[in-house]
Amino acid sequence: MGLSRDELLRALAAIARRRDEPEAVLDCPRCGATGLALADRSARPHAEWYHLACPACGLNETVHIPLGPPAAGGFD
Ligand SMILES: [Zn+2]
Repeated sequence: MGLSRDELLRALAAIARRRDEPEAVLDCPRCGATGLALADRSARPHAEWYHLACPACGLNETVHIPLGPPAAGGFD
């Protein structure tokens, strides 16, 4: 995984935005440029996968979101 924790948080925010607003223009989680390409490659119902690519900075990463009941204790 090449995303830092902050970049991952911004990536997840962009994914959530896309879910709510399919036509929304997204910002790159790394450089902040608009025009982030987000591709849904999910294998529901097991997991969600999103491929993020930014033409401005060359970001090219995949984000994995596990589905199912939340794990006890959550993150951290
Ligand atoms: Zn970028």
